[in-house]
Amino acid sequence: MLTFDTVVVGAGITGLASAYHIKRENPDMNVAVVEKKGTFAQGNTARSAAGFRDLFSSEVNRKLTSSSISFYRKVQESGFNLGMKFNGYLFLAGRKFVECDVVQGFIREGRARVVEEDEIREAGFNTRPSSEEKALLSVPDIDAGLLGRNCGIIEPDRLAAYYEGECRRMGVEFLYNTEVRPLRLKPVEPLNYPGEPFLWQSVHVDTLDTSRGTVRAEQYVLCTDMWTTALLDPTGIDSHTRPKKRQVFQVSGSEISSLVRHPMVEGEDVLPFTILPAHGIIMRPEPKSGSVWFSVADDYGRPYSFEEDPQPEPEFYERSIVPVVSAYIPAVSRSRVTSMWAGHYAYNTIDRTHYIFRDLNVIVATGTSGSGIMKGDAAGRIVSALLAGREKAMLYGGQEIDVAALGVEDRHLPKERIVI
Ligand SMILES: Cc1cc2nc3c(=O)[nH]c(=O)nc-3n(C[C@H](O)[C@H](O)[C@H](O)COP(=O)(O)OP(=O)(O)OC[C@H]3O[C@@H](n4cnc5c(N)ncnc54)[C@H](O)[C@@H]3O)c2cc1C
Repeated sequence: MLTFDTVVVGAGITGLASAYHIKRENPDMNVAVVEKKGTFAQGNTARSAAGFRDLFSSEVNRKLTSSSISFYRKVQESGFNLGMKFNGYLFLAGRKFVECDVVQGFIREGRARVVEEDEIREAGFNTRPSSEEKALLSVPDIDAGLLGRNCGIIEPDRLAAYYEGECRRMGVEFLYNTEVRPLRLKPVEPLNYPGEPFLWQSVHVDTLDTSRGTVRAEQYVLCTDMWTTALLDPTGIDSHTRPKKRQVFQVSGSEISSLVRHPMVEGEDVLPFTILPAHGIIMRPEPKSGSVWFSVADDYGRPYSFEEDPQPEPEFYERSIVPVVSAYIPAVSRSRVTSMWAGHYAYNTIDRTHYIFRDLNVIVATGTSGSGIMKGDAAGRIVSALLAGREKAMLYGGQEIDVAALGVEDRHLPKERIVI
């Protein structure tokens, strides 16, 4: 049996950042990461659209993102290329959006600026869909845009490689190709009677059963995104998250390449990560291939369901996405899909912000709700603080955050209004 002080399950961004901060703060602790795939970043981390922004309605989310973004920026500036570009986040919208309180707050704080319709048109967007398109597709005019400054795109596999490499350098062990079975509770003081644990016995997770034998640790950290539910269910601990499929369609062609080459942020060479004004469709430029990725957080009609290997639906792209996008970017109907994939959002359906909590000797970090890459570093620091029993976590850059704010018992977060 392999024995460690702390075992982190899951080598996605959350698990890697958690292992990194745990080991960084506790150099003598014996830490391992257990992952069912053959290497790191094979789950939702690999399927992400990998945009980052600090434009969130809730202050906690602004802290989680701005500190993580600053940390990633520091890593990249110190020479480890994360493919990070500060090309901005562009919310295309009607005038009302730009004038709303939250957005005006972003502008006052210097986080964003308004982009006028002319500039949006020059970049290649049709800002005035036809009356037929409006009637059929509910596609409003674009009056203006909001351009977030501390926002852009990153390569999650590079980010994961950074944390994995640093973990190894500090001595974290990695057990790949090792699938953890659903957790089982054991008595803290076993009597070796059949049927244990009984109601009156104190319980904990003693060991993990895995596809490659038993692993024991004092503390376990589950960073298994929407797989967390199945791992926890037998214990009676609730993961509080629900999975929904999310898809990405890569679209290429010469007209798309020239659209991608329209920066709006000084010093950058690529179009911002763009949110269309209708139905939450996002467009993520992919500078290397000159293509764009389309994705959408479709809610109504998209079931909460889990598939081990979710598949993209080309007909969803053709019938649901293309008509809407073509109203703003006619070139899309003349361009081709060159790749597609699907993953899941692990939704916190109440306030759409991470859950990071402890129950027994298990810490759970899940419910990333579509923003786990851009909050990964902060999540890792909060996990490490929780493991150490601290009430506050120090985020990169010196801001503090109440660990309990992300927990279950004393949680008091407003519902995040800007989820895409
Ligand atoms: C289409 C799409 C677009 C997205 N866009 C963005 C975006 O623009 N910006 C952003 O910040 N976020 C985005 N996200 C969300 C982001 O990708 C996730 O929040 C993030 O990757 C979650 O990381 P994680 O480490 O928690 O989970 P994962 O990366 O899923 O890692 C969990 C790991 O646990 C492992 N595991 C599971 N079960 C077991 C087991 N039994 N035993 C051992 N190992 C196990 C898995 O193999 C996996 O490697 C997007 C997600 C999707 C699907």
